[in-house]
Amino acid sequence: MSRNPRYDILFEPVKIGPVTAPNRFYCTPHALGTGQQMPHTRAAMREVRAEGGWGVVNTGYCSIHPSSDDAPLPNCRLWDDEDIKVHELMVDAVHRHGALAGVELWHGGSGTGNRLSRMTLMSASGISADSTYPGWISLARSRPMDKQDIRDFRRWHVDAAKRARSAGFDIVYIYAGMNFGPYQFLLPRMNKRTDEYGGSLENRVRLMREIVEDIKEAVGQTCAIALRFSTDELLKIPGENLESEAHEVISMLSDLPDLWDVKSSSWVAETASARFFEEGAQEPINSFVKPLTSKPVVGVGRFTSPDAMVSQIKRGILDFIGAARPSIADPFLPNKINEGREDEIRECIGCNICVSGYHDCVPVRCTQNPTMGEEWRRNWHPERIPSGDPDTSVLIVGAGPAGLECARALGQRGFAVTVAEAKEELGGRVTIESKLPGLSTWARVRDYRTNLMQTMGNMDIYRGSSLSAQDVIDFECDHAVIATGAQWTREILSTDGYPVGGIEGDAVFTPDDILAGAEAEGPVIIYDFDHYYMGSCLAELLRQRGTEVTIVTSANAVSAWTFMNNESGFIRVRMIELGIGTQFEYYLTGFTDGAVQLTSIYPGGDVRSIDCGSLIVVGIRAANRSLFDELNADPDRLADAGISSLRSIGDCRAPGTIAHAVYSGHECARTIDAGDDIPPIKWERPSLVDG
Ligand code: ADP
Ligand code: SF4
Repeated sequence: MSRNPRYDILFEPVKIGPVTAPNRFYCTPHALGTGQQMPHTRAAMREVRAEGGWGVVNTGYCSIHPSSDDAPLPNCRLWDDEDIKVHELMVDAVHRHGALAGVELWHGGSGTGNRLSRMTLMSASGISADSTYPGWISLARSRPMDKQDIRDFRRWHVDAAKRARSAGFDIVYIYAGMNFGPYQFLLPRMNKRTDEYGGSLENRVRLMREIVEDIKEAVGQTCAIALRFSTDELLKIPGENLESEAHEVISMLSDLPDLWDVKSSSWVAETASARFFEEGAQEPINSFVKPLTSKPVVGVGRFTSPDAMVSQIKRGILDFIGAARPSIADPFLPNKINEGREDEIRECIGCNICVSGYHDCVPVRCTQNPTMGEEWRRNWHPERIPSGDPDTSVLIVGAGPAGLECARALGQRGFAVTVAEAKEELGGRVTIESKLPGLSTWARVRDYRTNLMQTMGNMDIYRGSSLSAQDVIDFECDHAVIATGAQWTREILSTDGYPVGGIEGDAVFTPDDILAGAEAEGPVIIYDFDHYYMGSCLAELLRQRGTEVTIVTSANAVSAWTFMNNESGFIRVRMIELGIGTQFEYYLTGFTDGAVQLTSIYPGGDVRSIDCGSLIVVGIRAANRSLFDELNADPDRLADAGISSLRSIGDCRAPGTIAHAVYSGHECARTIDAGDDIPPIKWERPSLVDG
């Protein structure tokens, strides 16, 4: 297939200073969870995007000096010449596919912790911004930078830029955003200096200007200089000559950098999930930049639609379509547009599981793309997969995310695949959960897979087919895969936090009951110790219907886990806006006489009761294992039927997130014919080089 001419504009080369990007697809700098410690993993995770057609591929934040370290959160670094080699791996990998490689030089100022280097934090005036994010709360405050510090600060940037050039990078960033480095000089509330670096905007911009000029002079002949700048906070400060200080900063420096990378000052806002923000939500903080510079502008917006991308270019908002999450979900997004295969784009669903991977300090993982992070250690490619034997048949029972991903990947491998699904609709939990408020994009997990499966000649799909163990035996397949999912239980917790069995009654519901249409009489208590989205989503759903709702949880926040995927603040605001009540740090110990009994999670804490009409327990999901267990219990029966392997995958194997289910289905498809020869996983190892 050939490219739709409507999208030609996306494939125009764009000059960035001394280098030229082959197209407008731009992987903006973003954390990968690999840091400096996993160079092979990192190089492979970046390479796959260059291979998939992204014209520019950047590193994540790369510290220029030990006075800026973000441990334990994983950042890469260019502290001395020994650090260059690690970057060469990635640069070479990106260059192999004709893309430009960029490095995001970063000094965190007072916006980091220096927990590893233990050096005193530095900032414009010794002021640190508050952080309520547990991983970012630092007990250390910063000291104001004196003139020598400023000279050092400039020199460190130049030294790191020269190392970046030695590593082969084409684009060198200066990071002036998100409370980092020179950004702290820009903000009046962080900069109280009375010297030439404080006071007027011209003075506050001075350090940023000097660093850009220094780096330009040092490496600007060969490398493009990109300035990454957060606009939203300065947009709120009226300018002297222009609308805001953000306008003034851009017009003051206008054509000094070779590229402007504009963004939010908040990582939480920038990575806002699809539950709260739509594609292109950053436009209000980006759109003013282009008229103030002749240099190219890049920004993000979780763009997965080529039409939305074209609109950004044609309306003069952006020159490059910046992406982190869309490029994680589909590293081959540009190539698919280029080849007229838009239907095959694996669209990001905006769930932010990738964000949680970074906070977990492990290579980011993705709900949609199970190969992300596995490119090097398992040799998994997002588009290619080894062929299988077309005469080998596989039966998959259950078409949730696990079954669908397993079927899609097995179909791609060429096996003879049959899927049996009890319901008429495919998709399992994603079909159900995508009807919850804000989660409609989650249906993309199903749609990407079913779209491809329906084009496969080696794929039979039976809907409305609930299979028994005997049905599986009678099918006489070579391999059977059980993907029958899980269901919510009514189990609650003891006062020391362990499951103690179910709580029964006509007015006690599970999320499955509510999602299947059960009417819960208000006021409703949602007892949530799952701690992810379900409790707050159900509260929202019921509130929309006019029901009074209170969330009771053993945690100290609504949907407590979601601080890991940057949703917790938005969820809390939504609960407040909707008037949803909360009771934190209580176990639910009973439900009698129209009231729930609650007991404080703390020894000696109080006991109280709240009147309610219904109770929804959002806690534990139990695997639907009975089909698998029955088959697994009788190996002779399987052997007689010619079934050489039986596997359980996804929630049926062990309940988890949709990302776990997709990964499990994919892993099964890759290894179904491997027997005992599953290739060992490679692990990165520290070097024993002294010093
Ligand atoms: P996962 O997340 O592991 O994919 P889901 O719960 O989303 O799990 O999907 C499991 C699917 O399996 C559901 O669509 C369910 O209808 C289907 N299913 C469960 N038991 C059977 C069965 N015996 N035969 C066919 N389909 C089944
Ligand atoms: Fe998008 Fe979710 Fe994948 Fe992140 S994990 S890239 S938000 S689909």
